[in-house]
Amino acid sequence: TAAAALRPQPAPRTTTKLRAAAAPPDEIARRRNFAIISHPDAGKTTLTEKLLLYGDAIQQAGMVKARANGRDSTSDFLAMEKERGISISSTCLTFEYGGARINLMDTPGHADFSEDTYRTLSAADNAVMLVDGGKGLEPQTRKLFGVARRSNLPVFTFVNKLDRPAMSPWEVLDEISAEFNLETAVRTFPIGDGERFRGVYDAAKDEVWLYTRTERGKKASVERISWEDRDEISEKIGDEELDAQLEEDREMIRELTPPLDDEKLKKGEMTSVYFGSAMGDQGVEPFLDEFIDLGSRPASRPLRDDKTLEPSHSEFAGFVFKMQANLDPKHRDCMAYVRVVSGTFRKGMKVIHGRTGRSLTLATATMLFGSDRDGVEEAFPGDVIGLNNPAGGLFQIGDALHTGSSVAFEPIPSFSPEVFGYLRPTEVGASRKSFAKGVDQLLAEGAVQRLKERGNDGPDPLLAAVGELQFEVVVDRMQGEYGVSCAVERVSYTIARWCRPELPADEAWAAVDAAKKEGALTGAFYAEDMFGRPVLLFRNAYTVERLENDADLDL
Ligand code: GDP
Repeated sequence: TAAAALRPQPAPRTTTKLRAAAAPPDEIARRRNFAIISHPDAGKTTLTEKLLLYGDAIQQAGMVKARANGRDSTSDFLAMEKERGISISSTCLTFEYGGARINLMDTPGHADFSEDTYRTLSAADNAVMLVDGGKGLEPQTRKLFGVARRSNLPVFTFVNKLDRPAMSPWEVLDEISAEFNLETAVRTFPIGDGERFRGVYDAAKDEVWLYTRTERGKKASVERISWEDRDEISEKIGDEELDAQLEEDREMIRELTPPLDDEKLKKGEMTSVYFGSAMGDQGVEPFLDEFIDLGSRPASRPLRDDKTLEPSHSEFAGFVFKMQANLDPKHRDCMAYVRVVSGTFRKGMKVIHGRTGRSLTLATATMLFGSDRDGVEEAFPGDVIGLNNPAGGLFQIGDALHTGSSVAFEPIPSFSPEVFGYLRPTEVGASRKSFAKGVDQLLAEGAVQRLKERGNDGPDPLLAAVGELQFEVVVDRMQGEYGVSCAVERVSYTIARWCRPELPADEAWAAVDAAKKEGALTGAFYAEDMFGRPVLLFRNAYTVERLENDADLDL
């Protein structure tokens, strides 16, 4: 149940087991995590399934045919869960492959969820950019790439659906380098496309991977042939035109494309590029192998005072990057997802909740393995653990948990909201209790912020979101999960500015009031955020600009 994580526990029999400890270096070194950024339909679900198949987590990946309907892409995974009777969460899937422990962090698929995505990317060490080979870059790819760039993540690009008629691979590469100002290191390159797609040329190993079509959902059978056996390659391809094209492409790759530069890749200045078909399981293995090889290890995290926290630090520390209500529809629960940054997490361990200073015993934590939702005994830097948020709510996005001396992580930057409105029940006699509970839990997820008008203590919250769709999701879920039909009554502001956010709330308000007295704040709507800090709402950029010139408010 929700409070289980925090229920007082009998003293553990051995104290040594729960002492703070550094993580074993080899456990840190073998961890790789990544988040996939892609446009809806590019094949994220399909690729995820295939990767799990490599991890031997699911013996035979079934085809999933369920589309998101209103809720974010969590429904992809939740639908998978239903369809196959296995437990998969939207937030992080873990599998073992080739000695590595891989954590795949899900990102929401909708354009309106860029803030949620940003937080997930802020907890990841690598990004995989999935591109539909028939379409090239699409709006959501562009938007999410922008987010990944802000986090300076290494980006691995997988160009998918080569088993369908595709754009010229060279054109795709040009698009990426021109639009994203990113050097492209070709690591695998397709041999043919559509009906004639035969496999990929592996530039790093100078060999080809030729595939024979197999039953859907099974690992494709593959033959790897070194370029030294050139005749055998021609023979196996059995298509003169394709063979000549391969010869030419190989020359071009070797002569004209930049070699992989590990440093540039790690800094996000270069992307390594792979081609294939997630559905046909072609080109996935060389991609995964390289990802294990080249992907960033769990990295250090910036702290507030210009220091960084290293994964090898001797105390446990982590931060909450995502909240999710009602994962299990049978229980009104809310999970807080914690990215482990340093030290060893052990079940039953006592940690300090940074924001409140409370001491908590983490009696239960979950981690999602390919096919099971498992209780976690131990977790190390780079892992994600799920903690039940007790009823009433304790955790918030950005919260630190730690043993030893206090740790203040750099805050996760948030996007400025652009749409605002009051959430109100639409039926007379609606349960205020359910309404309040739904508001508390859904808003704790952080996709939508809760504001209130200064001096107005009415029960209906003023919501602030980055996009309209987030309101629709709240309304939908209030109905579906809490049985309260609601509507959002929009107000016509488009810009929110936090005033003097570095000050405590009362001092920030004093600054606002001083400016107001001088007549500097005409046209502003006075609101406060959940911490009571002043947030001014404006109708347009012009008013903000004028104020920035007139009032000393750091808007
Ligand atoms: P998501 O929205 O990014 O999760 O995309 P899905 O994995 O649900 O895939 C969208 C559609 O594209 C589905 O119909 C998939 O079967 C199909 N698809 C995914 N990968 C491939 C591929 O490699 N080749 C082909 N032909 N279809 C694919």
